[in-house]
Amino acid sequence: MKYYSLNDYLRDKYGKKIYKIAIDAGFTCPNRDGTLGTGGCIFCSGAGSGDFAGDRHESITEQIEKGKKRIGNKAGRENGGYIAYFQAYTNTYAPVNVLEEKYMEAINHPEIVGIAIATRPDCISDAVVELIERINKIKPVWVELGLQTSCERTAIYIRRGYELPVFANAVDKLATIGVHIVTHVILGLPGEDKEKMLNTVRYVADLAAKYDKSIPARFGIKLQLLHIIEGTDLAKDYYEGRFECLSMDEYIDIVTECLKLLPSDMVVHRLTGDGDKRTLIAPMWSTDKKRVLNELNRAIANV
Ligand code: SF4
Repeated sequence: MKYYSLNDYLRDKYGKKIYKIAIDAGFTCPNRDGTLGTGGCIFCSGAGSGDFAGDRHESITEQIEKGKKRIGNKAGRENGGYIAYFQAYTNTYAPVNVLEEKYMEAINHPEIVGIAIATRPDCISDAVVELIERINKIKPVWVELGLQTSCERTAIYIRRGYELPVFANAVDKLATIGVHIVTHVILGLPGEDKEKMLNTVRYVADLAAKYDKSIPARFGIKLQLLHIIEGTDLAKDYYEGRFECLSMDEYIDIVTECLKLLPSDMVVHRLTGDGDKRTLIAPMWSTDKKRVLNELNRAIANV
């Protein structure tokens, strides 16, 4: 079975190798600042799901330069480019003038070919859409929306803080301005069996299919294995034996089934996840990323 990987998409779009540089722009999140709650999503690390992002005390330019060094300035050598990935916390959750300043600092960097903005669908105001539309005309913008699940019951358990129609509404606003919309889905959430996980992926695929191909929006998906991170409330439930993590075989089976449900032009940004080994509690098999990807690719090739 073939799927449209992020690497394929980047090569088709840019014709060269593109690297992502994760940035912490110093924002917070309504699930942490008291607007919706203070504890955050049940699985979220204190770093706001930006464990590999740069240092929030540094400017965007400094973080880009350090990110380039970390990946060995590869784009310079290979005539590639970088995407500034606003990863930590909610990257549309600030006054629009502040957002504009941060995004523009990244966009104005000569080696940055586009920006990716990780956020929540309940933080996509009309003013944010208008800003993103303007930025997207300068360099391409991806907006990554944390859905995690289409099951309302699971959403309450993980303290996501919004209901499903909010997600569909955000997608609708973003689709009309032609940005790349990436949905973040977590596989292995407590209380979810394989069918529930597939339902989430079906929901994402059906939503994308709703849009006429003439709309310049492009849809993508990130499949992320649930990671249990030290210090989270999810870790407490895990230690209390309230749920079990997926085994590698189960995960591979579910991912393979998910891929079958996706339209052939949906960009698959990720098939697993990058947990911080220093704080990861489970599943430990996921730390051997090379092995996991090899097994996954073998299983996918055999479908
Ligand atoms: S919305 Fe994102 S940053 Fe905020 S608590 Fe949830 S996962 Fe963490």
